[in-house]
Order: sequence, then C-alpha cells, then structure tokens
Amino acid sequence: MELTLLGTGCPKVDHKRFGPSNLITSKQAKILIDCGSGVTQRLDEAKVSTADIDALFLTHLHSDHVVDLYQLIISSWHSYRIKPWKIFGPKGTKKFVTNIMKAWQDERNLRIKYESRSSTKAFKTTIKEFKNLGKVKIKDINIEYFEVDHRPVKYAYGFNFLYKRKKLTISGDTKPCENLIKYAQNADVLLHEVFIDGEFKETNKMRTKKTLHNVRNYHTPSTIVGKVAKLTKAKKLILTHLVPTKFDEKKLKKTVKIDFGKNPIIGKDLLKIRI
Ligand SMILES: [Zn+2]
Ligand SMILES: [Zn+2]
Repeated sequence: MELTLLGTGCPKVDHKRFGPSNLITSKQAKILIDCGSGVTQRLDEAKVSTADIDALFLTHLHSDHVVDLYQLIISSWHSYRIKPWKIFGPKGTKKFVTNIMKAWQDERNLRIKYESRSSTKAFKTTIKEFKNLGKVKIKDINIEYFEVDHRPVKYAYGFNFLYKRKKLTISGDTKPCENLIKYAQNADVLLHEVFIDGEFKETNKMRTKKTLHNVRNYHTPSTIVGKVAKLTKAKKLILTHLVPTKFDEKKLKKTVKIDFGKNPIIGKDLLKIRI
C-alpha cells in the first residue's frame, strides 16, 4: 500500500503545511483519513479524484481535521462522483455531518436544480460511528480502530491499516498513551503526531504560558515521541501534525533519534511512502 501525506500542519495556517489529512491507496482501495484545510487541493496535486475515494475515516472532530468536509463533498460532485460517501468517525459524526449538510442545503438545492447534473449521489452519506475498538474492511485493506487519549476531547482514535502482511499505524491526535503503544506494536510505519518542544519562544496575550501548556498537554511532545515509537518497535517513524509548523528540522531529528535509535522522517505535504 502507499501512504501520501496530504497535510502535515495544524490549526495555524501555513501554505507549506496544509491541515491534517492522509491518503492510503492499494491495488483496489483509496481511503482518506481526515479532511483538514486544503485537502481537495492536495488530492488534486496527488492526482487523485475526490470521485474515486472509497471511504473517509475521521480521527476526531477537532476543526483542523474536519474543516474541509463540505468542500470535499461538493467538489466530489463537481468531479462527477456518482456514489455516496462512506464516512467512519467518532461518536458525534452523524450529528456533525447532518448539520454541515443542513447549513448548505438551500444553496445546494438551487445548484442541483440549475446545473441539472445526472447524479446527486455524491451528497448522500452513510455514516458509521466507532465503538471503543473495532475492525472495518474497505476492499482489500483491513482497518483496525482504537481509542487514543486526546482529552479533553472525549472521542479520539488511532488506526491500523493492514495490507499484505504490512502494517501502517496512524496515531491521530494523542498524548502519549498505552493504547497507541499496544496497537502500534511492530508497525512497518508509524505515522505519529508531534508537539515540538522549545519552538514557541514567545508568549503574548493570545498565547499565554497556560495556552502553551494546555496545547502541549494533549499532544505528544518531541522529547517523548521517540520513546513511544521505540516501545512500539516500529520499523519507521514519520512525524506529522507538526506544532508549530516552522521549526529547526535538524534539532527535531536529533532529539527524536536519541530515543528512537533511528532517524525519524519529518513529514512534508505530498510525501509518499510505500509500505
Ligand atoms: Zn485534535
Ligand atoms: Zn489536530
């Protein structure tokens, strides 16, 4: 299978690091994980049509991970999608998607009537909400979902993608947690989020010490992510969801290597990894 990092950023805008999103493809399947800001533009750059995505998996409902959901759906209609969207996500996903579709209902109806396209199936969604642990099969890829710890966010998930005896683990947004270490064991690739220590040098009225403390507290700091990866015995570690988006790359690699024992790969938008 192949992993494409579509967006390696965070809520803060950076034109080089779009909002969180990843694409996984195999011989038969195309699966999207999250739909952060700019996801459709990056898919276009990766030469994958939104018409062809088999399923969308959401790690959690933080805005940086779902803000382009409607853009994804409407642009798939403009790309001649003729099948409904299969969406898998945490508790609350049904309500969230219904509300988004409702917000655009009048505009959409006008467009549907005026543009007279032959199908409106792209606007249909089938939504499955996760339990605390489970499995889903999308064509030739087996997916395992498990809870991670992103509290105070109540429902947040990590994923394993299993294909031809290979395993890709995606951490989602999480602080260091046992479940992630348990389910990521022996992954061929571990794609992990990171909060980079020492890169926020200034505080101000909007970004107080408390803000930084709280943000760091529900993510995995760079001084710990290598230890987590080491415990999973993952073969490769790729860092994404880089907070902040601008940082000293050499320093980050060095910090993580001390704990992981190997150089991590610093994620970049549109980076492709064969697994
Ligand atoms: Zn989050
Ligand atoms: Zn996030």
